[in-house]
Amino acid sequence: MRFNGLRRAVLGLLLVALGLAGAAQGPRLNPALPLVHVDNGPNSAAAQKAHYVVLVSLDGFRWDYAERDHATHLLAIGRQGVWAPEGMLPSFPSLTFPNHLTIVTGLYPEHHGIVANSFYDPARHARYAISDDKAVTDGSWYSGVPLWSLAESQGMRTACLFWPGSEAEIAGHRPTWYARFDAKTQATDAVLQARIDDAVALLKLPDAERPHFITVYYSEPDHEGHKYGPDAPETRAAALKMDVMVAKLKAALDKTHLPIDLVVVSDHGMAKVEGPWITLETFADLRGFETVGPLLYAQSEEDRQRVYNQLKRVSSQFMVYRLKYVPPALHGNENPRMGDPVVIATGPYAIRAQAPPTGKPDLPPNAGAHGYDPKLVPQMKASFFAEGPDIVRGKTVKPFENVNLYPWMAHMLGLQAAKSDGDLNILSGTLRDNGGPAPQAAGEDKVEPKKE
Ligand code: AMP
Ligand code: ZN
Ligand code: ZN
Repeated sequence: MRFNGLRRAVLGLLLVALGLAGAAQGPRLNPALPLVHVDNGPNSAAAQKAHYVVLVSLDGFRWDYAERDHATHLLAIGRQGVWAPEGMLPSFPSLTFPNHLTIVTGLYPEHHGIVANSFYDPARHARYAISDDKAVTDGSWYSGVPLWSLAESQGMRTACLFWPGSEAEIAGHRPTWYARFDAKTQATDAVLQARIDDAVALLKLPDAERPHFITVYYSEPDHEGHKYGPDAPETRAAALKMDVMVAKLKAALDKTHLPIDLVVVSDHGMAKVEGPWITLETFADLRGFETVGPLLYAQSEEDRQRVYNQLKRVSSQFMVYRLKYVPPALHGNENPRMGDPVVIATGPYAIRAQAPPTGKPDLPPNAGAHGYDPKLVPQMKASFFAEGPDIVRGKTVKPFENVNLYPWMAHMLGLQAAKSDGDLNILSGTLRDNGGPAPQAAGEDKVEPKKE
């Protein structure tokens, strides 16, 4: 008897120890993509009942690639849910960081502050560049409340398997899990697959720890689009590779049997570049200016006005505006990080302030580019596909501005969205509950979406 009792006690202790070890182990992540873990506590009781949103971005996946290249898996998601056959409108400028931040904050770039991939801040006397790890991870560059910070602030856990801004503390929060972006490895097949494995591993965590909002970012087909142009076979192959990647992700998500809304977007499209570099310093004396790409930052008002006058009407390939007169439809006339004057291409032209310094190679422009006003260059339009328990089946939407994704995703998660430039009414027709009743704070119980 005594022996049996001892054996039971030892066995019990062993099981407790194994259980503790299991819990301490955390999710079974793919070693190709280790994640940083931030202890933000468990999901609140209400958050545990909320649905899930997996937001996928395919960089530079132009709105028309899916039909053009027969991306059957993306088109199937669109048929099972909703999609934008004529594209989604990126915010100006149609660049990667500005638009990724817009998608998760609902703010135009001039409001979230990341007005270009690289820019200068005249007030800080400092530069931001996506290749500068120190700047990218410094939350003081960013304004607005990214969806992961919104969720974390309302008791809901999140994960970012890459997303511009996700490695910084913004609005007082970080995602509970996030990956450190490594340009050298992120596009390898191992790390492409690891996003899927990590997402699934996180979704297998117990209710209290499982993230409800997960971002997944892929840098293709943007890279091929730049190098070979949007119509090249290499770009088409990259688009189809991403279509297969999304199919794999969807199959893996389906196996979890969790109520997941899958949202697949891109940040912008891609246009074939026409002509050689247009170099602004050939038209205007830029001595004393800070320049970043085509952006111009003067020391004095006199310099701003002088360069504006020098650039005005010298070319049909660009317009020049004093900052406050940038057309309001572009939402880019308020933030001094945009520079002043502001030069805007009228077509798919490659514009730069200055040629590289002597000694550095002056390479011709890429075959493909983006950044343009989608009204002037419709090839800038982005992709939008979504399906899941909160989304109606078989509906298409007309082109809409990507600021509207934020209140829409917040609604699906049952979060009270922060103030933004987006409007839930724009996409409410794609929701089974039509966007109402009013979004529930995660502190309250989630209203179940209407049954079909
Ligand atoms: P562009 O196509 O010129 O707008 O730039 C896109 C670049 O951003 C690509 O080279 C990506 O590899 C890079 N990129 C995407 N996400 C991140 C990130 N989270 N951190 C740093 N760079 C990134
Ligand atoms: Zn991009
Ligand atoms: Zn790009």
